[in-house]
Amino acid sequence: MRERYDVIIIGAGIAGMTAAIYAVRAGKKVLILESRAEGGQILTSNKIENWPGEPGISGAELARKVKEQAKALGAEFKVATAEEIEKAGADWRVVAEDETLETRAIILAMGTKPRKMSVKQTADAGKRAISYCATCDGALYKGKPVVVVGSGNTAKHEMAYLQGVASKVYHIHHDDPIPEDAVAVFVAIGRVPSTEIGRGVVKLDEEGYVVAGEDCRTSTPGIWVAGDCRTKNLRQLITAAADGAIAGAEVAMYIGGGRWA
Ligand SMILES: Cc1cc2nc3c(=O)[nH]c(=O)nc-3n(C[C@H](O)[C@H](O)[C@H](O)COP(=O)(O)OP(=O)(O)OC[C@H]3O[C@@H](n4cnc5c(N)ncnc54)[C@H](O)[C@@H]3O)c2cc1C
Repeated sequence: MRERYDVIIIGAGIAGMTAAIYAVRAGKKVLILESRAEGGQILTSNKIENWPGEPGISGAELARKVKEQAKALGAEFKVATAEEIEKAGADWRVVAEDETLETRAIILAMGTKPRKMSVKQTADAGKRAISYCATCDGALYKGKPVVVVGSGNTAKHEMAYLQGVASKVYHIHHDDPIPEDAVAVFVAIGRVPSTEIGRGVVKLDEEGYVVAGEDCRTSTPGIWVAGDCRTKNLRQLITAAADGAIAGAEVAMYIGGGRWA
């Protein structure tokens, strides 16, 4: 028989794991699906200065603590990519690689991923290494020339980090030609929502973010959204955690017979 959950949360970033803490504490059977590593995008940050109460904590340490908390309370974790969501009577089915899971409600918490280079620039990069994280991969190019693509704050941070490692750091903009001697290309041209699975299931805006207000309710009853993949102005840890709390508490009420107003 298929395992049936009260809530399946897609994505174990700070939003998804906080949602799990709230839903599991309200007595619900919760599964979190994560395609990569629990913690999400903050795993690449060495130092967080604005997380209340723990200035300077690393992303990896914060993620470890939140995961341990959610697990100790009874949330189940599974490393698998959610590939499809479909309605099954009053419930939902989530297809995750080799398994089909059943659930009464879903929280979408897939966050964002780095925007890819243009087709032209990717062709120009040829066989050179392409990275989206200087902190993760910069050391591989110690003493070698590299290039950073992008013009925002992330690009500035990536440049500052690489200047301490590489022999030369070129800075180019979207669609500029890549300097010949650069051995690696660090791409920092923004982020896009990881919401492909929600297409045709919930309303997305023109950029692909899941449309929802502060109550985190999507256009589809039974499905909530939390964190950076939601339409909002400030995408930060604290707002991801806040969404997680709201979505987790709301979903528990919904399952307990609360009305979808
Ligand atoms: C380098 C960097 C530094 C930052 N520094 C700060 C900071 O100092 N302070 C601050 O407040 N914020 C910071 N941020 C922003 C902060 O990290 C995000 O706002 C926050 O982590 C978003 O959390 P989230 O849970 O919404 O999404 P994410 O962290 O993006 O997590 C989403 C998760 O969902 C998973 N996923 C996606 N699709 C699927 C699928 N189909 N199936 C299963 N799993 C899936 C992903 O693998 C990912 O783990 C930083 C971000 C970056 C990139």
